[in-house]
Amino acid sequence: MENTLSYARAQDQVDPLRGYRDQFYFPQHNGKDVLYFCGNSLGLQPKGVEKALLDELEQWRTYGVEGHFKGEMPWMYYHKFLARQTAHIAGAKEEEVVVMNTLTTNLHLMMVSFYRPTKERFKIIMEAGAFPSDQYAVESQVRFHGFDPETAIVEIAPRDGEDHLQTEDIIRTIKEQGPSAALILFGGVNYYTGQFFDLPAIVREGHHAGACVGFDLAHAAGNLPLQLHDWGADFAVWCSYKYLNSGPGGPSGVFVHQRHHLNLDLPRFAGWWGHDEAQRFLMKKGFHPMSGAAGWQLSNAQIFPMAAHKASLDLFEQAGMENLREKSLRLTAYLEFIIDELNRKGHQYHILTPRDPAQRGCQLSLLIGNHGRELFNYLTDHGVICDWREPNVIRLAPVPMYNSFEDIWLLGEKLRVYSGK
Ligand SMILES: *Cc1c(COP(=O)(O)O)cnc(C)c1O
Repeated sequence: MENTLSYARAQDQVDPLRGYRDQFYFPQHNGKDVLYFCGNSLGLQPKGVEKALLDELEQWRTYGVEGHFKGEMPWMYYHKFLARQTAHIAGAKEEEVVVMNTLTTNLHLMMVSFYRPTKERFKIIMEAGAFPSDQYAVESQVRFHGFDPETAIVEIAPRDGEDHLQTEDIIRTIKEQGPSAALILFGGVNYYTGQFFDLPAIVREGHHAGACVGFDLAHAAGNLPLQLHDWGADFAVWCSYKYLNSGPGGPSGVFVHQRHHLNLDLPRFAGWWGHDEAQRFLMKKGFHPMSGAAGWQLSNAQIFPMAAHKASLDLFEQAGMENLREKSLRLTAYLEFIIDELNRKGHQYHILTPRDPAQRGCQLSLLIGNHGRELFNYLTDHGVICDWREPNVIRLAPVPMYNSFEDIWLLGEKLRVYSGK
């Protein structure tokens, strides 16, 4: 690799996915596209979203209530139109996934089914420093069942002096705590460090211990290829507005492994949209869930956010997760190369994210010295959108769908000019 504009441009020229950049709107800074590295927080707007929303407005205008059964994508069946593409993102069978609600809501719904503590088995094992919403959800679930978060939540932290978790420590903790564990709940990619956990190993060990295993894939969906079915996770949830580019507050995806679909003893919070479709409008007493993840739906589908999501999923289907990952590995390696080179010239950016590409997605988290906030403000003033986390961390996510090698080179230039080194 080379830290030159000509090298970066040459990489872009041979990038088979380079055309996707034109499918997105970039915010402007002084009349030019910003350098956008915030796809881990809110993905950019695909140009196709507008038409997708207008189509649904037209459907509503044209048919009124009959839009549930008429038109190209009748609302009654809307979740089904997203199933195949969602299965592609999750590495699942179509009947194992459904798009509904929002992420934290779905995390609660899944815990209703898969966190069923008993006096002997009541613990939830999770990564320390999980996203706050997950921590609050877990604490409140534990309390809801009458347990004390102090004793019921086991958090696995990095070793002293280390930035991220060792898989062997995760495995050991599951082994030690296994007999009292009801649920192992991990992020796929930790939002702060960018570490991608060894999900199949966690499933294996968790199941071996007799616990359920679920994942929050907010930072993994659309970032890394997933194989939820083969890995055997019991459930997973994710949001669609980060790497999946479906707009603020976009809908959440849910995975429930096929092995649970016929288990009617599994408790769940029910609503009419999870009820057997053929009998839904008979409006009778007695809940009969649809088979598959769709049976966890509560309410009728939120058509507008789901339409935006569908427009974005179309791009993922065309581009292919494997191809996106291949480009992502090269993009992030290039960012790492440029940061390392700046460090050799006297900059001090400490990369918190694992150096092993298999243990990360596209994001690199940089621990900056004391001037972190100042640097962040400088970047913002110079047309770079990235994100700041207290106390001193800048997260950069070069997204393979729309970022280029040139973006990364330009970012490196801004960092170089900032410090004058
Ligand atoms: C972004 C994120 C959330 C946000 O939850 P919402 O319910 O969509 O607001 C939750 N958990 C994780 C791990 C996240 O990264």
